[in-house]
Amino acid sequence: MTAGLSTDAYAELRESVVTTIWNELDPLGEHIENTERIPYDLVLPVLRSCGAFGLLVPRAYGGSGLSVSQYLPILSEFAKIQGGIRAIVHVHNSFAHALSEIGSEEQKAEILPGAATGDKSLAFALTEPENGTGADLSTTARRDGDDYVVSGRKWLITNSDIASHFLVFAKTSPQEVSALLVPRDTPGFSIKPLPETMGCKGAEHGELTFAEVRVPTSALVGAEGEGQAHLERALEISRVFIAASSLGTATQALDLSLTYAQERVTFGKPIAERQAVQRYLAEMAIDVYALRGMLADAAAKWDAGRRIPAESSMVKQFGLEAVGRVTDRALLVHGGIGYTRRHPVERLYRDARLNWLEEGTPTIQYLVAARELLGGYTFDDVFDALTV
Ligand SMILES: Cc1cc2nc3c(=O)[nH]c(=O)nc-3n(C[C@H](O)[C@H](O)[C@H](O)COP(=O)(O)OP(=O)(O)OC[C@H]3O[C@@H](n4cnc5c(N)ncnc54)[C@H](O)[C@@H]3O)c2cc1C
Repeated sequence: MTAGLSTDAYAELRESVVTTIWNELDPLGEHIENTERIPYDLVLPVLRSCGAFGLLVPRAYGGSGLSVSQYLPILSEFAKIQGGIRAIVHVHNSFAHALSEIGSEEQKAEILPGAATGDKSLAFALTEPENGTGADLSTTARRDGDDYVVSGRKWLITNSDIASHFLVFAKTSPQEVSALLVPRDTPGFSIKPLPETMGCKGAEHGELTFAEVRVPTSALVGAEGEGQAHLERALEISRVFIAASSLGTATQALDLSLTYAQERVTFGKPIAERQAVQRYLAEMAIDVYALRGMLADAAAKWDAGRRIPAESSMVKQFGLEAVGRVTDRALLVHGGIGYTRRHPVERLYRDARLNWLEEGTPTIQYLVAARELLGGYTFDDVFDALTV
């Protein structure tokens, strides 16, 4: 069970973060898009001061200890503004959440207080250039006395330019995956940038090389060989976080389209009075409404202490399809000027495309959802709350 913050404390925190998002971070969006760089000297202090880094860090370690139900609306708000900022907040909090669940007391005491304030920043290193994820990884961590020696390559790792710690998934035997904490300054560990991305610009997603990188056995997170199980649990909830990002971007695209449709006049009438345009708006709202409901269900189940592999894959997949449809329709409502940078719908469309990739592609979501269905998952409990 995750109780989260009290209602009053949560309302205060949420209002403060949302105000910061719109007053202090949103105005930096155009500069980030133009330069394809996040001005960390401006952005990081703002994220620190509003508590964005500590949202999912337990209160015992100085964070806000939000429940998932409380975190989703805040992450969703970040997904309305420039996407690179959302990516930083998402990856940092997902890692902190995973470490708070599976890390040892020593690891938590060492990292989480700094993670809560943003003095330590975190990255999740799974994806590889030459192999698939999970059991297919080629990065190895060989036991040598009181150390592990990590060798291999990762890429597309968000926050690679600012992270103080990397949660690295590596094979400790041909059959077993383990998770290890590797500090940024460890000898043999090097990081280089990759080319700029289509959307969510400015955040770095670099390439990591581990050339016989030595870390003590205390760097192991959980037991040796438990990496695959930890990975699945971390991705299970992080997929819900991606769906919440889809919701934020879709909601913003709908709001902007509602405003624009009432302002833009053709043939003597606002286009909002045309039935064809109304249909676009209604379809966008249906996607937003359905996604909100799925997210509320998934978050309530997780906060009640349940595992949700089927729900998380389904909501992640539905979310990316929904935000794809909604941002597509937002462009249609805006007409030609929507294709320019005059309106943020152009950016929302590009930012949303990352949601196809983060925490696994559609084929992986189909695989997990089908595996759960064939394993006996049913929808019976969805209407339990309504049964009288
Ligand atoms: C901006 C950005 C940020 C990212 N941040 C991170 C991060 O912080 N940490 C991290 O670890 N990763 C990160 N990633 C990587 C991302 O999670 C992966 O790109 C994504 O999971 C897909 O993996 P891949 O790139 O290896 O694609 P591939 O595995 O090469 O997939 C290519 C295609 O083949 C399909 N495919 C592959 N294998 C199978 C299979 N066995 N069965 C069926 N279909 C298959 C895929 O669905 C896809 O359509 C990031 C990526 C981007 C673009």
